Amino acid sequence: MPADASNGPQKPVPLTNIEVATLWRGERSAIRLYVAALSIMAAGFGFIAFVGADTELRYLVLLAALALLGAALYVQFALRCPRCNAHLAVQSIMLIPDRCKSCGVSIARPPDLDSELDI
Ligand SMILES: [Zn+2]
Repeated sequence: MPADASNGPQKPVPLTNIEVATLWRGERSAIRLYVAALSIMAAGFGFIAFVGADTELRYLVLLAALALLGAALYVQFALRCPRCNAHLAVQSIMLIPDRCKSCGVSIARPPDLDSELDI
């Protein structure tokens, strides 16, 4: 972590590529978990509607989806600004904000993200 004092205290040191990549990797895992939760819900309830399953299976599908949603929320709320340690998930819904609202450091969007988001 570069601790260069020449920038002055009010301007945060820009994030390194590794720090940015780590943030986006976490965000991507959260999105994957959200998608998985929705898929399980859709597939599960589609299956139940098709075969007319009992309520126990319905609860099982719901529980699995809720567990994945919980995991997604956990991953997302674990994302913190590498500079000031502020929670990034509460600053913007679903995606990491352009810059940290707490310390103002800008969070670059890696150019390879969009292709990797295709699931
Ligand atoms: Zn910050």
